[in-house]
This record gives sequence, structure tokens and C-alpha cells, in this order.
Amino acid sequence: MERSFKKEVQELKLGDGETFHGEGILAVTKALLQSGVSYVGGYQGAPVSHLLDVLVDAEDIMSELGVHLETCSNEASAAAMLGASINYPLRGAVTWKSIVGTNVAADALSNLASPGVIGGAMIILGEDYGEGASVIQERSYAYALKSSMWLLDPRPDLPSIVRTVEKGFELSEASHTPVMLELRIRACHATGAFAAKNNRKGVVSGLDKLPGPPRFEYGRLSHPPVTFSQERLKVEERLPAARNFIREHSLNETVVGDLNDVGIIVMGGLTNSVLRALERMGLADVFGTSRVPMLVLNVVYPLVPEELRAFCAGKSAVLVVEEGYPDYIEQAVNVELRRADINTRVLGKGLLPNAGEYASDVLLEGLAAFLQETRPKGIDADAIAKTVRGQIAHKPIAAAALGPLPPRPPAFCTGCPERPVFSAIKLMQRELGPTHISADIGCHSFATFAPFSLGNSILGYGMSLASAAAVTPNMEKRPIAIMGDGGFWHNGLITGVASNLFNKGDGVLIVMQNGYASATGQQYIPSSAASKEGPAPGMGIEQTLRVMGVKWLRTVRTYNVSTMVKTLKEAMKTAERGLKVIIADGECQLARQRRVRAEDAEKLKRGERVTRTRYGVDDEICTGDHSCIRLSGCPSLTVKPSPDPLRTDPVATVIESCVGCGLCGEVAHAAVLCPSFYRAEIIRNATWRDRLKHRLRQRVIGWFGGYAGEAAT
Ligand code: SF4
Ligand code: SF4
Repeated sequence: MERSFKKEVQELKLGDGETFHGEGILAVTKALLQSGVSYVGGYQGAPVSHLLDVLVDAEDIMSELGVHLETCSNEASAAAMLGASINYPLRGAVTWKSIVGTNVAADALSNLASPGVIGGAMIILGEDYGEGASVIQERSYAYALKSSMWLLDPRPDLPSIVRTVEKGFELSEASHTPVMLELRIRACHATGAFAAKNNRKGVVSGLDKLPGPPRFEYGRLSHPPVTFSQERLKVEERLPAARNFIREHSLNETVVGDLNDVGIIVMGGLTNSVLRALERMGLADVFGTSRVPMLVLNVVYPLVPEELRAFCAGKSAVLVVEEGYPDYIEQAVNVELRRADINTRVLGKGLLPNAGEYASDVLLEGLAAFLQETRPKGIDADAIAKTVRGQIAHKPIAAAALGPLPPRPPAFCTGCPERPVFSAIKLMQRELGPTHISADIGCHSFATFAPFSLGNSILGYGMSLASAAAVTPNMEKRPIAIMGDGGFWHNGLITGVASNLFNKGDGVLIVMQNGYASATGQQYIPSSAASKEGPAPGMGIEQTLRVMGVKWLRTVRTYNVSTMVKTLKEAMKTAERGLKVIIADGECQLARQRRVRAEDAEKLKRGERVTRTRYGVDDEICTGDHSCIRLSGCPSLTVKPSPDPLRTDPVATVIESCVGCGLCGEVAHAAVLCPSFYRAEIIRNATWRDRLKHRLRQRVIGWFGGYAGEAAT
């Protein structure tokens, strides 16, 4: 990992009497250490990458506590790690991005939930749902229901989050069931403070090891015939035990209000948003006091029938604020009330939308509609609705005044090594025509946006080659599958490559070898040049593919666009059958820049020579047709007014943020565009040789009557 979290790690060392300040996701990390975990693991993914990154940097604390840290190769291996809690009193936690990570982990989770656990087992889910999400929009709730795992959804303030983590382990142990803690994007990044406690060693840990395995017990296996009794245990013993624990320890909260004929049942994670909406309506204050009573579900599964009944009894109506679809909670509340013959109306979906994030405006409108529908005594619901309309009325007017805004799709970083590959694909397609592109998850999926617009399907992380399996035999041209090195190790090696070789497939696979899981923050992967312990584990992609039997294999430096175009054409046209793999090699530029900038700063401090490459466009030569921009898409390659008054088209220009990757020049060369591009070297702490060379060049240029330029510094 190129980024350092040394500062955040200091917060993890806080103890009794001290106050922790920081982000929600870091509070979870601290809460894990306060809970006495013996092992932690996970697979990176927004919005929970930070959790694992910080733990990787907190090596000294982890070894003091004897905590084992595993940076897992995918979510399935992380979920399987929790198997340590099936037989032993080991508390452990793993983390990943949901829903996608939970999908990958599903098999292990089912096999964990069936026998249940002795030690507390927790899965921290980065619930990537709503505005800003980067994956398919589904809820993790379904997994909790189908596998009988408890789902915690704490109020997004740090003390609640920390308490829910600590109590979550106790709940897991009291009910012998793994628990999931879901954190939405905003909760992960919410900042605040809480009273820290000392970190705790696990009952068993790397410092106090177990003497040996337990007595053989078939009931701890998820294997028939005990799976039948395990199913019964889930419903008859573990579920009631969990409900008792939730009630006795008041994991859910009640906000008392004076408008008692109505109430709101809200998922814990949405509590702050609901309170803020009520505050804007004049029905709550900034400290969390509300005039409308609220039942805050910090545990959204299982629901506790007694709590639901007690809250709803005597009310004419309740509103269930449940983000996403299906409306599991709303249905469950209806069932519990009918069973208890309580005739409170249950409102929810309909007043609130079925899909999408419950952001501020959505809640304002939904709550106003609820009050108008139920008309609680003591308030003027129509006046409140009018206030709400006034609060949001300016938005459509502002939008109309602005007109349509230009789309701002995410894009590759400046100088990204993956961009040239897509330039090369475009150039190849100019000659050979379009072909099916199986895209994948990772930075390279930015190529699905303009100016490349390359990609016909995305089926999951590392799935591109597998998703081309049925396209290949049904298409005249070979499809191209694109996969990152992160995706290769996560899933693509087995799901894609092994399956393709096994079935004697005939596609083309490009593996982007940039050295890291880049999109999630530059974590190390098995083929990185280094590892968290220092030296690399030595697992090369090329070497692995050769051992597996890939015969047609080329490694091409990504910035070399002409070679990449040639190699792609060869892969598309060769008569040789079988999988053709191009390893597109080029280090993630973001990671490289982080490293190089720090190294350069050190050199400058020591007064050593430092060079920086920049590219530029000679605006006297540029014709202004912008082919270079359409083929590169680099944000540092843009336009400016032409200096020639006889030409109205803007010319291309390279701005200060250029990192000198050379792609624009390469593309101009490979596409036989124009000779406008030049390369310059900016030298700091120039040596006498540099100065001499510079003077000589100035003189020669002067002889030809050109502008001699500025002196080297
Ligand atoms: S993080 Fe690295 S791989 Fe991803 S877009 Fe940026 S430079 Fe490219
Ligand atoms: S050299 Fe060209 S493509 Fe590379 S960063 Fe600079 S402007 Fe962008």
C-alpha cells in the first residue's frame, strides 16, 4: 500500500479517559480492538477500505495484542476466516464492500451461519448504496434473512457505532450467530468523537494460544445430517436468544415525543437524516429531541415483536423509513401488528420512494406527506407541508435557470497506464472494425465512458473473461476481455482463465498489470513489487499463466501504443486457437506519483538533481482537429484559443498537471496524427553539464533564428 495511515494509527492507541476524534470507519477499527478480537481480515472496497488499510499500518498495536491480520485474496476467503469462531472462543471480524462482496462470500457465510459460532463473529459491510455508490443497487438485508445472521445498522454517530460493535460481539456469542454491521457511505465518513477505552487482548490470541483442537463434534460441521438440526436451532434457539439480548441490552432506542398518536420506525443508519428533516420542519432540534416519537432500529434484523408492539400500541399510524427494496421491515411490522391485533396503520413505501437513497429532499417530502395523511393532533400538517414545499421550491427553478449541466463521468487519472490500452483498442478497431468488449470492475471500467465508450458488459469483479465464454463461439470476431491484476487474483484466474483453458476457449484477454488494487486505494496484491511485510511474495501473472498452459502470451508496456496496436491486431487475427493473453504492463500512476514526489522532495532537500518530464503542443503547428484528445482523454490535454487570428478553432494544449507519461505523443505517432507534440525536461538543481548543454542548444537555435527559451535553473 502506497498511502500511509500512521497518523490515524495513533488514535487506535488511545485508552481509558482519552477522547477519540475521527471518521466513523476508524471508530469501528478502534471498537474492534476494544472488543478483544483475536483476528481480523477482509477484502478492500469502498467505503470500508480504510478499515483494513489502517490495521495494516497498525502492525505494532496488533502484535502487542496478539491479533492476527489477514489481507484476504477475496471476500470468500475473508468469510471463510470466520470459521475460526465456530469451534473456539475467538472473536474475529472481517470486512468488505457489499452487496458485491457479500455475493462473493455467500457460500462461506451459509456454511458459517448453519453451525453457528462460539466466539463472536462480525462482518463489517460497507453498504455501497445510494448517491455515490459504485455497484449494483441491492440490499444486504436479504443475506441476513436467508442465512439467519443478525444485521446491525447503527445510528451514524460515533458513540452509537462503537457501542453497536462492542454489543454486536456479545450478541453474536449470546445467540451463537454471526452478525453483520452495515455502514453506509456517509456513516463511514461521518466524523465525531467518543470516549475511548483501553484495547483488550482476546481470550485466545497469538499471545495465548490454544493447546489443541476440541473434542470431535459432528454438530460443528455444516454437513448432513446435522444441517437439519442446525436449521431448527437457528429458528428455535438462536433467534429467541438474539431477541432477548437485543431487548435486555436496549440495542434499539426509543425517542420520546409528544405527538403520540403517530410514530416513526427508522433504520438506525437513517436516524440522523430523519431527525434533520424533522428539524427543518420545526419538529425536532439539533440535539436529537423529536416531537414525533421514534423507534430507532440499530438492529434491523431480527426485529423484536415486543418492541414493535409496545411502540405501535395506541398510535393511529406509524411511518416505516426503510431505504431500498423490497420493504422487508414494513412487511414484518405489518405481520407483527396483525398477529397482535393492533390496528395501527403502517405507512412507508408509497409516501417514500421504493428505490434510491433517502436523501434530505426525499425525507422532507415523505415526512410531510405522512403528516398530511395522518394529521396528528397538536400540529398544522398543511402548514408544515407548505414550509417543506418552500424549502425545496428553489431547486427546480435553479435547475431550469442553469439548464442541463455537462455530464462529469469519472475518468482515469492523469497519466494512467491503462488509458493507452484503450487508445490502442480504438486504433485497432479503426482497422479491424468493432468487436465485443467484456469489461470488468476496476479503474479500467472508466473506459466505458467518453471518449473511449468501450465495453459491452460488466458481470462482476474478475468475471470479464468468463462473461465472454458464450459470446466467443457466436461472434465472427474474437471478443476482448479486460481484467485488472486485482480482478485476476480476486476471481479471474479461476473463474475466467482456468475455465477458458479447460473449455479450449479462443478469446483475447488483456490483463492490466498496474501493480496494485488501484481503485480501492492502492493495496498490494499477490503480484505487487512489494508486500505489507516488505519483500514481494513473488507470484507473477505471466509465470502463473504459463504454468496453467497459456501458450500465446505477450507482455507489452502500456505506454507503447504502436506495439500495443500491433499486438492486439495479431491477437485478433492469428490462426492459432486458444486463449491469447496480453499483459498490459505499467505501474498505477497515482501510486507512482505518490512515491516519486516523496523521493524527489528528499532529493531536492539534499540539493540533488531532479528532473520532471512534461509534454507540450506547439500551437503554431496544431491544426485544432483534436484527434489527439479523442484518442487519449487525458485531463491534462485540453484546448485553448488559437494564437493565430486567422484560425478560429481552439488548439490543443497541455496544462501544468501533465505527469509526462508520453501517451499524447505516442498516440499522435501511432495514429499518424500531427507533429505538434514536444517533450521537455524540467531540471531542478541543474549540474554544470546541464547548463553547458543548455547554453550550446540556445546558441544553435539562435543561429537558426529560433527562440532560445528560458535558462535552466
Ligand atoms: S488509480 Fe492508478 S490505475 Fe486507477 S485510474 Fe488512477 S492511475 Fe489509473
Ligand atoms: S504526457 Fe500527455 S497524456 Fe501524459 S499526462 Fe501529459 S498530457 Fe496527459
